[in-house]
Amino acid sequence: MLEVEPPAAEPNAVVIDVAVAGVGGSEYLGYNNPGIRNLPNIMGHGFAGTTAEGRRVAVNPLRSCGTCEYCRRELHQLCDDWHLIGVQSDGGFAQQVAVPEAAMVALPDHLSWEQAAFVEPFANAVNAWELSGADAGCSVAVLGAGGLGLGLVACAAGAGCAQIAVSDLSRTRLDAAAELGATACGNDTEAHPGGSYDVVFDTVGSADSRRQAIELTRKAGTCVLMGFAAPDLEANAGAFIRSQRRLLGAFVYSMTQFQTAVGLAGRCKADWVANLSFAEVEPLLQRYLEGDFSTVKAALRPNG
Ligand SMILES: [Zn+2]
Repeated sequence: MLEVEPPAAEPNAVVIDVAVAGVGGSEYLGYNNPGIRNLPNIMGHGFAGTTAEGRRVAVNPLRSCGTCEYCRRELHQLCDDWHLIGVQSDGGFAQQVAVPEAAMVALPDHLSWEQAAFVEPFANAVNAWELSGADAGCSVAVLGAGGLGLGLVACAAGAGCAQIAVSDLSRTRLDAAAELGATACGNDTEAHPGGSYDVVFDTVGSADSRRQAIELTRKAGTCVLMGFAAPDLEANAGAFIRSQRRLLGAFVYSMTQFQTAVGLAGRCKADWVANLSFAEVEPLLQRYLEGDFSTVKAALRPNG
């Protein structure tokens, strides 16, 4: 834990007391790849807290110019000037953070801070789900049952999909997926016994998971890539072309999708979240580095 000056409230910005800040794939990526971020950097891009007036808010960390062609189409993540609070600027791994007034999204009183930790990853899932064009008639496979994967299960279950297969190595994450409506859960062979699916989401992003996601996509189906673990895509282009599959990338969200995610996060259980002190964040990232992803969702509670 580092002592820094309290954040100053610039015009149109509000200082919030951070109640919860999710520790997820992006933080793991930053920890695991020294040099990927400009230092010093206060991480934490999925966070929620309370304003001085007592408003409970989640923060949409995506900032953009608001006026370009993409911003006007609500594709703020494609803005040439986008940045994420907690990645390119100081984020929620702090007791206080100053955020633009326009970034705040009101949280309902019944949503616990633990549930609020799912809002940001679920917003990514809402975007990926909408981009995929999937509907109730689609069979769906999700690779990885962390925050993104669980959000996709919530989307698919909410749409009424009858077949939602989820693979992960962690039993606790799979149990959470089942609770949200996954119909088949297990490791790769248990969850996908020779099946192929209309829509497949890869939330892991390793070379293996991307290859598997493409292979699991049926002919003329849609494969959506979200995970960032490996930099390059390795795929059999011939097989891909002949099967007329669609391959999509999905990255962050619009404000509307972020608000939709607030509703979906209410379906999560508070005890899926491991609440961490500052001193417990680095040991958790170290466990991720060693391949232990048994925690469904970890979150820093900077103010105890
Ligand atoms: Zn823009």
